[in-house]
Order: sequence, then C-alpha cells, then structure tokens
Amino acid sequence: MSKRDYYDVLGVSKEAPKEEIKKAYRKLARKYHPDVNKEADASEKFKEAKEAYEVLSNEQKRAQYDQFGHADPQGQGFGGFGGGAQDFGGFGDIFDMFFGGGGRRRDPNAPQQGADLQYTMVLDFKEAIFGKETDITIPKEENCDTCNGSGAKPGTKTKTCSHCNGSGQLNMEQNTPFGRVVNKRVCNYCNGTGKIIPEKCNTCGGNGKVKKHKKIHITIPAGIDEGQQIRVSGKGEAGVNGGPPGDLYVVVQVRRDEFFEREGDHIFCELPLTFAQAALGDEVEVPTVHGNVMLKIPAGTQTGKTFRMKGKGAPNVRGYGQGDQHIKVKIVTPTKLTEKQKELLREFNDIAGNEATDEQESSLFQRFKKAFKSE
Ligand SMILES: [Zn+2]
Ligand SMILES: [Zn+2]
Repeated sequence: MSKRDYYDVLGVSKEAPKEEIKKAYRKLARKYHPDVNKEADASEKFKEAKEAYEVLSNEQKRAQYDQFGHADPQGQGFGGFGGGAQDFGGFGDIFDMFFGGGGRRRDPNAPQQGADLQYTMVLDFKEAIFGKETDITIPKEENCDTCNGSGAKPGTKTKTCSHCNGSGQLNMEQNTPFGRVVNKRVCNYCNGTGKIIPEKCNTCGGNGKVKKHKKIHITIPAGIDEGQQIRVSGKGEAGVNGGPPGDLYVVVQVRRDEFFEREGDHIFCELPLTFAQAALGDEVEVPTVHGNVMLKIPAGTQTGKTFRMKGKGAPNVRGYGQGDQHIKVKIVTPTKLTEKQKELLREFNDIAGNEATDEQESSLFQRFKKAFKSE
C-alpha cells in the first residue's frame, strides 16, 4: 500500500503554519482515538494522523519530508520512529501532550526520546552532484556500557526515591489568605529523577551516560544541494528510561566551483571563444561534470548565445530525471595583438567596411547609425 501524503492525512496545505497543523491533528486524534472510536479502521487512522503530526510538527522532520517525501535517502523510512515515548497511554495524554508544561508534569520514569543532533558536512561541487558514501565521527552521549545506562554499579540496583515515591516532585502545602495551596517542586533528594543510586557506577559516575566518539556511516544522495539535510534515524543521543534515541541531521554545504555554477538540477558555465571561432564556426571541447563533450559552434555565433547540453546537469535528488548543462558563449576581444595581427585586422575591416552581410548584424548597425542622425 502506498503511503498517503502527510499534508493530505491532516487535510492542511503545504504552507500551513504550526498552529493549523496542531489543530488539524487534535481534531483527528479526538475523532479516531481508539478509546473513543470503536470502528475497525479507527486505530489505523489514528496512527496515520499521529505519524503525520510527528513529522509536520517538527521543523527539521518537516523540512526533510518536504524535500524527500516518503523517500528517505538513508532508507530508514519515516514511519515508526519515536514510538514509545509518545505513545498515548490513555485519552488524557493527548491533552498532556498539547498542554505539556501547563498543568501536569512529565513522569520522570517515563521513557523519553533522546535529543536530535546536527552535523554540518561540507561537500565539493562534484560530490554533491554524484553523492557519496562516507563515515563521520561525532561526539555524542551514549548509554554507559558498564551499567547499561542505569547509573548503578553492576550488581547493585537503583531504588525508588522514598521522599517523592518516584514521582520526582514534592508537594508543598502552604496556607495563604486565599486558602490552602499545593505547590509542586522538584524533589531535591533525587533531583527530579525519582530514583536514588546507592552505589554509583564508576565509569559514568552515576550519570548513566558517557560521551563517546561515534562513527556513523552516511549516504549522501546524488543531486543534493546547499542547505539540504539528511535525517539519519536513531543516530541522535540515547533516550532516557529506555526511550528511543533521537535522530541525526546532516546539513549539507557545497563548495563553489571555479567554472560550474548550479541552480537546482541545472549547471551553468561560460565558454570563452575568439572572434574568429565565433565568426567561422568551430568544434570545441567543453568540460561537463560528466566528462568533456564536443560542442559544435555554428558560424556567426553571437556573444551571449546559450547552448544546452541535455542531461549533463545534476541528477534530481528525489530521483526525477537529470538536469542540463547550459553553456553561454562569451566572445573575448584580444587585448594584446602583434603587428601582423593588427595589420590583418585592419585589412579585414577595410574589406568588410560597414557593409554587414548578416541581417541581425546589419539592423543593429543601422539602428546605431540612425541614432547619430537624430541628434
Ligand atoms: Zn555507568
Ligand atoms: Zn525524589
């Protein structure tokens, strides 16, 4: 079954602001939540909406989706990431998710997804066009191998904090002129984690995490361009309490080339020709990113004339065909002439006079002459 477009799933436009996406999702979530809707396909529809929302509500994931659609250059697909941390336990959690930070606090023992990481990769002009396979090394927090991320010395266990009973919060009751008020504050015995570690792991000092330099294999798709990014699913920081890891975003920068310029899938360049080559015609070798190609220059080629070499541009990063190379002729006037050359040019000019033979040329010269007469 082909996957539906996320914007279609939520019924919003591609330009929809965050608020609108949230609203559309809330409506669908209320309608299809399995606790509310007992129709057979309700849970599928709920999942579909949830997945669309998870991507479109996250700026980076949305940019990634806008760029690549469901096709992920890393081949990981968009579905199924996240998961545990954001799965709804009950209907109330929907509201917790939207109004998070307002009333209820997150359970410190609940699984949490690890943070996303960003890495900037600088590519040569041709690397961006042809793509490449490469390994990068990034510093990131990983679960400590010694204690498996628990922070407790092997053979010992973490205990539930007795002061907050594992909630990570303490209730502070206060009598005020308006009545009794209950304030919540972070438990200072467990720093809000809800856990006490009687014997700390020696490797991570009870942190559960260690900084590691991690080697990650990256596939750069052919045709990628400046500012585009690649999401590598699950290669961000480790999750907390068994939550899934975050994602790694590789942002691409492309070095400029001396000869080629790129606009989307098309490549542009300038071809210098002498007056004689342009007037008499010639066959010249033109560099392209795919190798040198012979180009026939017809006699009487004017400066500014553009030739198109089909398929000699960059491949489309989404896999939709191939761009072209556009070659713009620039006739270069010589600045240093030998006496012999000057002599020949004078002779040429005397013979040619102002009797232009080419129609385009003659009309241009005529307009030029008229401009003097009208003074
Ligand atoms: Zn440890
Ligand atoms: Zn506590």
